[in-house]
Amino acid sequence: MGIPFFITRDLPQALGHRLVILYPSVDSHTFTQSQADKLTAFVRQGGFIFAQDVFWGGLQSLFGFRSFTPLRTRHHLTFSETEDPITKYLNRPEERETQLGSDHLPEIIWSNGYVPDAHAEVLAHFDDGSAALLTNSVGKGKVYLLGLSLLDVVLRNQDNRDYEAQRHYVNAFEPGADVWLLILRAWYEAYGQDWVRLAAIPGGQRSALLLSHDVDWENSFAPGFDFARVEKANQASSTFFIQTKYVDDANSKAFFFAPNLDIIRQLKAGGSTVGSHSIIHSRGFNKFELGSGHETYPSYQPRGFGFDTAGGATIFGEVRVSKELLDGEIPGQDTIFFRAGHLRVPVSLPEVLERSGYQFDSSFTADDVLSNFPFALPRDLGFEEDSEIYEFPVTIEDEESPGFAKRVPQALRVILANAENGAVSVVLIHSNESILKAAAEQDLLRQLPPDIIRTDMVTFAKFWRARDRIQWSLTPTSVPTEALLQVESDEPVIGLTFEFQRPIATVTGGATLFPDSRHLVLPELAPGQNVSLHVDYQH
Ligand SMILES: [Zn+2]
Repeated sequence: MGIPFFITRDLPQALGHRLVILYPSVDSHTFTQSQADKLTAFVRQGGFIFAQDVFWGGLQSLFGFRSFTPLRTRHHLTFSETEDPITKYLNRPEERETQLGSDHLPEIIWSNGYVPDAHAEVLAHFDDGSAALLTNSVGKGKVYLLGLSLLDVVLRNQDNRDYEAQRHYVNAFEPGADVWLLILRAWYEAYGQDWVRLAAIPGGQRSALLLSHDVDWENSFAPGFDFARVEKANQASSTFFIQTKYVDDANSKAFFFAPNLDIIRQLKAGGSTVGSHSIIHSRGFNKFELGSGHETYPSYQPRGFGFDTAGGATIFGEVRVSKELLDGEIPGQDTIFFRAGHLRVPVSLPEVLERSGYQFDSSFTADDVLSNFPFALPRDLGFEEDSEIYEFPVTIEDEESPGFAKRVPQALRVILANAENGAVSVVLIHSNESILKAAAEQDLLRQLPPDIIRTDMVTFAKFWRARDRIQWSLTPTSVPTEALLQVESDEPVIGLTFEFQRPIATVTGGATLFPDSRHLVLPELAPGQNVSLHVDYQH
């Protein structure tokens, strides 16, 4: 969401700011009575708190509840009809009600259902009628209390360790994790003073459509030209994920050789980008042995025995040797993007990708991880630390019945729903056939609104990585109508966009001000470049 924040265990330091998030929970050991009094005074004087799982009686009246009941049996959450600004971005039915876990599982994540007191307003409730999200105005400030952990409704989904909370697997709009990020964004925008945010999409645009093709059959190479042609004619480009199959096995013959290699070289020379789609493309990839990390061509000899069984295959081998081959065979190629066959993901994948020189992955579906924003893939798909790998989950694919060519209007609806949230959509079209599918892709591109960027996955992912890693600050100056925006990027980046609450009159440093006076697009930054821009607000 591009919201600036820092983490501290020092209460006075936190309360020096206008907006404070209490995380991960508040029980009777978290604060002393005098600290609780400070929190209450902070809100009374115009502070804003967003908290989750407050259990302590000492803060009951500040947060506006009488009691709570922890349970693992609440499966649904519904937002109330309210004027409250923090639900501002939740306008669609899929956002107004979310699923916390499958109805088929009796016990899912823990939730704390609150009983509000007479002052509090209930902004969302669980299926048993208890309050899931409360707000309470105290003095000049306001508090929000969530009866769920963001770890469970955001990170757990992104790890795919959720209790099957997704309502669809692919091809539908599933913002189950995004709604919590959108709530935090709305909270920041409602109560921040002169706020600024680093936008998710470059160039001041609304959204991005990331195009990709999986090449996982001997006859899937030549049709790639038709897709590339359609994309070029519609100011788009795409990433081809290549299965580097050099062994014959029970699933298919080898096909990673001439003339297929020439086709990949020509696609790349024509402006497409290339990623790895493993070697044997096994449905059993997530159950393979890890391997040594020394696998190499040609001594690595994996063979599929059937759809999900294989011999001689390892996770490292599939990831590392496919990159070795692509990098060796295609001029100028450095393979940094991976997509697993059949979207099967072993928990070691983030670390194996890191150790093999990759930066990006696209092996999940967006619906399955309930996320339409790219995110850092946690190591071991766990809860402790992020890996260096960014995940770009697949939103739309071509194989579900009745096939992509007949689902273009549906795909467009999902893309527009994501665009409304400033999120992205990833499209996967297998290049096994181009008569119907390239025509359908053209149809989709022609109907795409002009403020949705259409691009290949590698280009956007490099932008995302640079954006995620920049250092930036906005500092007031001695002149009340001026501020200094400082940005430093380790990596080259084009189109970084900042959104301001206050309309801007002029800006220095070659930045472009959008007609709405609230979006600034930075000039291209070179690696290690440091820019300082003077922002002069309208007055
Ligand atoms: Zn595939």
